This record gives sequence, structure tokens and C-alpha cells, in this order.
Amino acid sequence: MSVRSTEVRLAARPHGWPTAETFAITQVDVADPAPGQLLVRNLLMSVDPYMRGRMDDRKSYVPPFQVGEALQGGAVGEVVTSTVDGFKPGDHVLHGLGWREYALVDARSAAKVDPSVAPLGAYLGVLGMTGLTAYAGLLRTAEFKPGDVVFVSSAAGAVGQVVGQLAKHRGAARVIGSAGSAAKVSYLTGELGFDAAFDYHDGPVREQLKRAAPDGIDVYFDNVGGEHLEAAISALNVHGRITVCGMISVYNATEPTPAPRNLAMLIGKRITMRGMLVGDHADLRDAFVKEVAPLVADGTIRHRETVFEGLAQAPEAFLAMLRGEGFGKNLVKIA
Ligand code: NAP
Repeated sequence: MSVRSTEVRLAARPHGWPTAETFAITQVDVADPAPGQLLVRNLLMSVDPYMRGRMDDRKSYVPPFQVGEALQGGAVGEVVTSTVDGFKPGDHVLHGLGWREYALVDARSAAKVDPSVAPLGAYLGVLGMTGLTAYAGLLRTAEFKPGDVVFVSSAAGAVGQVVGQLAKHRGAARVIGSAGSAAKVSYLTGELGFDAAFDYHDGPVREQLKRAAPDGIDVYFDNVGGEHLEAAISALNVHGRITVCGMISVYNATEPTPAPRNLAMLIGKRITMRGMLVGDHADLRDAFVKEVAPLVADGTIRHRETVFEGLAQAPEAFLAMLRGEGFGKNLVKIA
């Protein structure tokens, strides 16, 4: 017996910023699960910057979304029907078929999660993909060491809020964050314990970073690119490291964007600049959860979530995340 389900589709590929016309909300009938599948009722889904890249028709590390088809992304739901040993109705699972009420999930791509251990949102954020990105990008890609001065951009976001606090916990000499509002700056220096933070709208990043890090920085965790990256290269000390995690400032650009004008500084300062993808660091998951879950439980690592209510709000949740209106991890409560 099929079940009626609402899903959000890609209606048209955006040119520049996505708009309401980028999305279409449709009803479909979802069939019974085939052998090896689970029928999952989604409860919570994630909206993430990388989804913007998947809206474009170009070759990348993940295939593009298809026009007329439901979007995809991290979600947590409850198993309704299972054809697979080891999964039963009522189990909670993390999987990649968000943007819909009901999903037919291949059991091999579902991971059980326990809401009595951590709230469901944590599996999509601080203890999930974005938390692991912070952990791997700081400790492995940037080769963080105690005593480093660390600068992270989009610091009040899902990845950034973990990067800064983890660096402090691991013995950073100083942690500096940038974000897009005074309220976010207060959150960073207040609740999260950053040593310094600034609003990048308040003046040139280069000048604000120089004031916040008068002796320079050793690690730049880049979530933003553009002016932030150029400023960080100027501020980096000899043997500084850059983790290129994201470049959200260019995701909606319609023309190629200029590179940092000071790349030649990489030579004299012997700077290492390394891109990273969280999918390459699955081997760190156990170590990450072992270290970070207790820090979240005892309040050493704090985190915020911004939750939109209802699947119909998912397009707006995505756009609001791109605009920087949310704090921490941006989620949509589906049921
Ligand atoms: P997020 O930081 O929670 O949300 C995006 C934030 O970007 C917004 O809240 C906004 O905050 C900021 N932003 C938007 N436009 C900006 C601009 N022009 N300049 C500066 N900041 C801007 O998102 P997230 O999930 O934690 O991801 C952060 C970055 O990491 C993204 O670039 C994402 O693509 C990347 N990422 C990479 C991987 C990987 O495997 N490499 C994995 C996860 C995420 P403000 O209010 O501060 O402007």
C-alpha cells in the first residue's frame, strides 16, 4: 500500500541567487519498500551550503540535482516499514533523502541514531556532518597544534562554531572568528568563549583581522573565500596553514571571481593551503564522536540550531541560511 507524501523538487536551475521559483512543492505516492529498503518518515532535515552547488549543472564531487526531481540532503527519520534485518519500525535513522516527508531508503545508506543519547538535530550538526567537518578540517587538514592562533570565518555557523571551540579546547593560544552580525559576534565572544570576533560588514576584513590578531595567525579555517581568504593570507605567520573548507561568498556568483591578490605571499611564508571534503575523513568518525560527544554533553562545546517548522518552509530555510539569518546549524522540522 503506497503512502501519500509531499516533496520539494528543483523546479528550475538558479542563475545567481536561488529564489522561490527555484523550488516546487509536489505530492507523490511512495510505494512499499522493495527488498533491502526502508520506508522512513522524515522528522528533521538539514539545509546546507553545498546544496547550492548541486543546483548547477556541472561536474563536481557530487552529481547535480535534476530539474523536476526531489532535492536530497541529510535527514533523520523514523522507520515505518522495514524489509531488512537489523532495522525495525520505530528505529531512528540518519540518511541522505531529505526534502520529502517519506523516503524509500536503501538500508545500506542508513545509519541508526539514538534520540536518548543526543537530540536528533545533533546527528545532522554538531555530532554529524558539520561537526566532523570541523574536526577533520582543523585537526587533520590544518594540522592544528596547541599554541596555534586560529582564525575561522562564518564562525557562528554550523561548522565554524565547532572549529573555534574545539581549537580552544585543544589548547589554541587565541581563537578569532568573523561573522555577519553584532548578535553573532556577541555569541562568539560570550557564549562560545572566542578570544576575539568581528562583523565583516564593519570594515575591511584585513584591518579588522589585524586588530584581532596583532601577532598574526597560524591557522585559517576558510568557510567563506574572497576577501576573507586574502586577509588571512596577509595575517598568516611563517608555516601557516589554510584549510579550504568552503567559499560561500562565491556560491551565487554569476561571473568568475578574482583570486586573492596576495597569493605570492604563500612562497615567502611557506604557507600550506589545502582543500578538504568531509567524505574523505569517515575514518575519523569514531575518534570524533568519542572526543566531541562528551564535550557537547558537559557543555564544553556549545552549539545553536535554527529550526524552521514544516517541509513547506524548507526553501525559505535554505535561502535564509545562505543569507546568514540563522545561528549555528540550520534545520527544518518536518514532523
Ligand atoms: P553555515 O556557516 O552554518 O551557514 C552559512 C553561513 O555563511 C551563513 O549563515 C552566513 O553567516 C555565511 N555567509 C553567507 N554569505 C557570506 C558571505 N558573502 N561572506 C561571509 N559569510 C557569508 O554553513 P556550514 O554548513 O557551517 O558551512 C560552512 C562552510 O563550510 C560553507 O562554505 C560550506 O560549503 C562548507 N562546508 C564544507 C564541507 C566540506 O566537506 N568541505 C562540509 C560542510 C560545509 P554570516 O551571518 O556570518 O554571514
